Amino acid sequence: MTGLDLLIRARRALTAAGEVARCIGVSEGRVVAIEPYESGLTAERTVDLGDDVVLLPGLVDTHVHVNEPGRTEWEGFASATRAAAAGGVTTILDMPLNSIPPTVDVASLAVKRKAAEGQLWIDVGFWGGAIPGNLGELRRLHDAGVFGFKCFLLHSGVPEFPHLSPADLEVYLQVLRSFGALTIVHAENDAAIERAPSPHGGKYAAFLRSRPRGAENVAVAQVIEAARWTGARVHVLHLSSSDAIPMIRSARRDGVPISAETCPHYLVFTSEEVPDGSTQYKCCPPIREADNRELLWHALAEGVVDCVVSDHSPCTPELKRLDTGDFGVAWGGISGLQVGLPAVWTEARRRGHGLDDVVRWMAERPAALAGLLRKGQIALGYDADFAVLAPDDAFVVDPATLYHKNPITPYAGRALAGVVRATYLRGVETTDDTRRGRLLTRGGA
Ligand SMILES: [Zn+2]
Repeated sequence: MTGLDLLIRARRALTAAGEVARCIGVSEGRVVAIEPYESGLTAERTVDLGDDVVLLPGLVDTHVHVNEPGRTEWEGFASATRAAAAGGVTTILDMPLNSIPPTVDVASLAVKRKAAEGQLWIDVGFWGGAIPGNLGELRRLHDAGVFGFKCFLLHSGVPEFPHLSPADLEVYLQVLRSFGALTIVHAENDAAIERAPSPHGGKYAAFLRSRPRGAENVAVAQVIEAARWTGARVHVLHLSSSDAIPMIRSARRDGVPISAETCPHYLVFTSEEVPDGSTQYKCCPPIREADNRELLWHALAEGVVDCVVSDHSPCTPELKRLDTGDFGVAWGGISGLQVGLPAVWTEARRRGHGLDDVVRWMAERPAALAGLLRKGQIALGYDADFAVLAPDDAFVVDPATLYHKNPITPYAGRALAGVVRATYLRGVETTDDTRRGRLLTRGGA
């Protein structure tokens, strides 16, 4: 074969055939050849990878809050995508809230696309939002290329993104089903949270009591039944309560079109270990007990939970209230986009999982969820998006080395296995200068 722009000779490449020695040929940003390692292919540029690294597909993170415009001091397109690239992530989908305006109509989507232009190290797509009053906008947003619609079933944390009632949810699902759109749900029940003890002070145990598993369980049950009745495709965001897993399992067995994700922080940390006053661990739903964490791992292994995505949702240090350590008033959201891969790999390996599992959870399944047809795998015709990981190297997370706009993260000081040595976006290695990311639309990538 001639005309290859790039040839990666990898002693260890993770393809559909598992971890194998392969020559990966790239032309015009796509994988066009996957040949035996000794095949003798040539290209304009050849990269030889040693046996200490594995060539992975670039990760696909479908749950990122970029916050620009409007709350750009929390995070922004440049810092988020640079951090993602450094962490082996080559595609993110931006959540519709925390930026101002939220992505709830075509005009606000245009504002976000414009804000993102020229700032992207990796490819970025957008979720739309489903809020009271925008039912009539959904079809237009869908046609404008959002990947699906996010809704909340309780207060979202920001006033410009109100939540749907369970009755609203059914109405919205009926409409979204009519054009085949995916609905992604923050599943905590409003009434259950209202009636739980209010969070206050620095005790993590008190915060945990304010966001009980029951609030998630009730909401997941409501989402399942609404999907069952309407036939709409739904996805449970950031599953934390392992109690909800049997419900999701049985719904799937019944043919209800439901999927679920969890996040690195629920798979890494436990409530028993969160120091009081350490609001960098605050997120909603919360990090729960060690036994809960193990059940989430089982659900991943079984395939009842499909994806692991970051829910990267940072803010400024002031809003984390580290000075008082008050869980009641601190912003809820965990910053971890850049370290998701090593965080999950460290814990996965300890439980006997391989990199193929990690790639399924963090690249292949998220890409499938979003309908990203050329992402999430090293395969012919796919985008040449890669992460080069040294799985046996270790490092200690130093916030000064993170590209996140704000340095507050619960991963600070944590020893992790797996160092991302390089990231490629459409056949070009990312560096400080490579702002080659594109804006993605549903069905177009
Ligand atoms: Zn989120």
